[in-house]
Amino acid sequence: VTNMKKNGGNFSTRIRFNDTSERRWREVMYQLCISDDEEILITIRDIHDEIIAEEMKKEKEQLQILQGLGSNAPIGIIKCDIDGNITYANKKSADILGSPSIAETMKINLLTFPLLIECGFSGKLKECLQINQSIVSDIDYISKWGKKVFLRVHIKTWLEQSNIKGAQVIIDDISEIKRLEEELRKTSITDFLTNTYNRRHFVNQLENEIERTKRQGIAFSLVMFDLDYFKSVNDIFGHQTGDIILKCVADVVKKSIRKIDCLARWGGEEFVILMPGTHFDQARVLAERLCKIISETNMPKISRVTASFGVTQYNDNDTVDTIIQKADELTYLAKSRGRNQVAY
Ligand code: GH3
Ligand code: MG
Ligand code: MG
Repeated sequence: VTNMKKNGGNFSTRIRFNDTSERRWREVMYQLCISDDEEILITIRDIHDEIIAEEMKKEKEQLQILQGLGSNAPIGIIKCDIDGNITYANKKSADILGSPSIAETMKINLLTFPLLIECGFSGKLKECLQINQSIVSDIDYISKWGKKVFLRVHIKTWLEQSNIKGAQVIIDDISEIKRLEEELRKTSITDFLTNTYNRRHFVNQLENEIERTKRQGIAFSLVMFDLDYFKSVNDIFGHQTGDIILKCVADVVKKSIRKIDCLARWGGEEFVILMPGTHFDQARVLAERLCKIISETNMPKISRVTASFGVTQYNDNDTVDTIIQKADELTYLAKSRGRNQVAY
């Protein structure tokens, strides 16, 4: 008022006070102005309802924006209460879970729906709800119609006054990413021409096997073979035919070994087989058999191709280099003895 008297003009302020009669905060607007005859005019306006209305309007707008975002989101969004009953589900979540509509999805209980129990989701949600934990987890989900999808699931609990009230779940269908990852992983360990493992993967497997043998004392063997006079095959029938023969030999060998045996192309026309849990005698018998099968297989374009084999087993203190060297020396021993045979 003093300032106004000195400088003239109006003054307004908002004052928030505790309305003890109604036990809540109210807000009023005071407007002061000095009239020409130096009287001060004060208007007091209760703006409480205006503010509440404004706040509600803003909240509604926000909610509409969020709902719009949620229902059009390219990921599944679900909200559930503490008992697993769904309170909100968007269209994408229904699509991902293989449900025909949002209404159908809303009928699911996230803690008791058999398909969600089976894939491990319900257990994870239960744990989160019990100990107020947030998690991200990848799960394999098979929908009611048998469609298999890989899901990345984010579960976050929501609280009211420190009490767990439920959880919000974000579900992302990462099947395509997983498929590409798997394709990339396979490509990175596969020899392109023969579709056997490549040298790098073989060395990794061999290192693992050496470690396992040191820990558990389980024997393993290694067989190496090199195609005989393969340069002549190329020279006579062409490089393309040579490639076909290499593929054919790899296929024939693959069919004759166990799933756990690791067949790799060591380089050129040279292959290696790692045989976990296999004693030397068994490996030798298998090598003899492979030698015979290769020599008796009718190869495309040329009638016959043979290979020379070296068979060795892991001995104490062997390393990747020493065991490969032994197999290599034995393969060349088989060559020097006349080829199309096994040396050990
Ligand atoms: P040996 O019985 O002593 O093993 O005789 P070899 O002719 O098989 O041995 P050498 O090492 O002299 O020649 C290997 C040949 O293998 C030469 C090369 O052209 C051929 N080779 C290596 N890799 C490939 C391939 O990817 N495709 C084809 N077509 N030939 C290959
Ligand atoms: Mg050769
Ligand atoms: Mg060679």
